[in-house]
Amino acid sequence: MRPVRIKNILSDGNVGQTVTVCGWIRTKRESKGVAFIALNDGSTQDTLQLVVSAESPAFNKLQDCNTGAAVKVSGLLKESPGKGQNQEIEVSELKIFGSADSGNYPLQKKGHSLEFLREIGHLRPRTNTFGAVFRVRNIMADTVHDFFQKRGFMWVHTPIITSSDCEGAGDLFTVTSLELDKIPTGKNGEIDFCQDFFGRRAYLTVSGQLEAEFLAMSLGDVYTFGPTFRAENSNTSRHLSEFWMIEPEMAFADIDDDMDLAEDFIRTLCRKVLEKCEKEIAFFEKFYKNTSMNELADLSEKPFVRISYTDAITELLKAKKKFEFPVEWGLDLQSEHERYLTDTVFRGPVIVVDYPKEIKAFYMRLNPDMKTVAAMDVLLPKVGEIIGGSQREERLDVLENRMQDLAIPFESMQWYLDLRRYGSAPHAGFGLGFERMVQYITGMPNIRDVIPCPRTPQSIKF
Ligand code: ATP
Ligand code: MN
Repeated sequence: MRPVRIKNILSDGNVGQTVTVCGWIRTKRESKGVAFIALNDGSTQDTLQLVVSAESPAFNKLQDCNTGAAVKVSGLLKESPGKGQNQEIEVSELKIFGSADSGNYPLQKKGHSLEFLREIGHLRPRTNTFGAVFRVRNIMADTVHDFFQKRGFMWVHTPIITSSDCEGAGDLFTVTSLELDKIPTGKNGEIDFCQDFFGRRAYLTVSGQLEAEFLAMSLGDVYTFGPTFRAENSNTSRHLSEFWMIEPEMAFADIDDDMDLAEDFIRTLCRKVLEKCEKEIAFFEKFYKNTSMNELADLSEKPFVRISYTDAITELLKAKKKFEFPVEWGLDLQSEHERYLTDTVFRGPVIVVDYPKEIKAFYMRLNPDMKTVAAMDVLLPKVGEIIGGSQREERLDVLENRMQDLAIPFESMQWYLDLRRYGSAPHAGFGLGFERMVQYITGMPNIRDVIPCPRTPQSIKF
């Protein structure tokens, strides 16, 4: 018989019933011949109080009921007379699946640093903090699908291994089956990828966008939700080498539709988490103080500020604050600039649109001014850029000119150009970094703490 989850007992358990629960012991204290055990099973922020009295046959097993032990208990569910919980179980049966060596269990005490917990990645999901993070993450992932499915977007599965490197080869991981001590080389000593598994060089994908484009140009609105990889050596609190991205692509849509969708999407994520993870958010609000119910409620209602890149530069030039990086039309916005816009000027989310073409990707649609492209970034307070998106260039000649200017080889991009040769149509999309969004909602300071197994430079232990 499967146990009942503690979440269900606490929300709709009937007092007077006999129930069976399984979980891990958080704490145990004894007083006057009665023991109180706090049990958690990962289903909720709360623990369930187990009461073991001296008369219970379970009493003589208490010695092995240490913090960290996995147990199964059965007993009567009762109103709790004590403070801090409404219900408790009067234990009649107790089975210890696995005790935990009390001296060595690393999660003995409360209040470990996040850095220490990263060293025990396999045990940290048992803490309040990480239980909360992963429950919120789960609700958000579910909301992603619900949001797009309700709007008629089709979930498409773009490849993880790809041959396209046109987004900037520097950031890519190579995928190879060549033996590293016997790498075949050509005349000039260059690696001969013709002898590699796919007959040419392959990479881990940095984005599913290009493939999502051809799917949108046949199926209509689509979205991807999967892992992406970046080999960039940026050791920051907002970058992972492996992260999950959500990339909707809309057929017959322009940049305004794109911004509307992005805004609606972010608001929906905030609203759903507020609805379904109230306890978790209350926990983050209390212990980490980087998020709050009010802030999320605000974000789920207020329209985002929309400002052109040109006007954003004007705002930044007016700033009294001294920036580390220069502010000048034509230069990319650094995160200190983004933060200034969200945290100081507008005090909320900001969408910056129409960036200079020189600092954006080749596929973004050229605006009539011939200087800017229909690109937009959504910036959130504290985390900065959360979404990068654009209307795609659908005009064959304009796209070819752009590729020529940037010296992008045409051979491997013929299929992409075909989409502009045959039945081309306006389309737009964006990419949202899932972990950055989890980070924003939970207020966790470091992106390494919102994914079970963070991959960053020099770190892949768990
Ligand atoms: P940044 O300037 O912050 O490095 P980017 O411009 O490289 O980001 P895009 O290529 O536009 O990002 O990717 C779309 C989204 O994916 C970003 O808005 C961000 O939310 C997320 N993202 C990008 N790189 C990372 C990363 N290394 N780790 C986690 N999320 C990322
Ligand atoms: Mn970007």
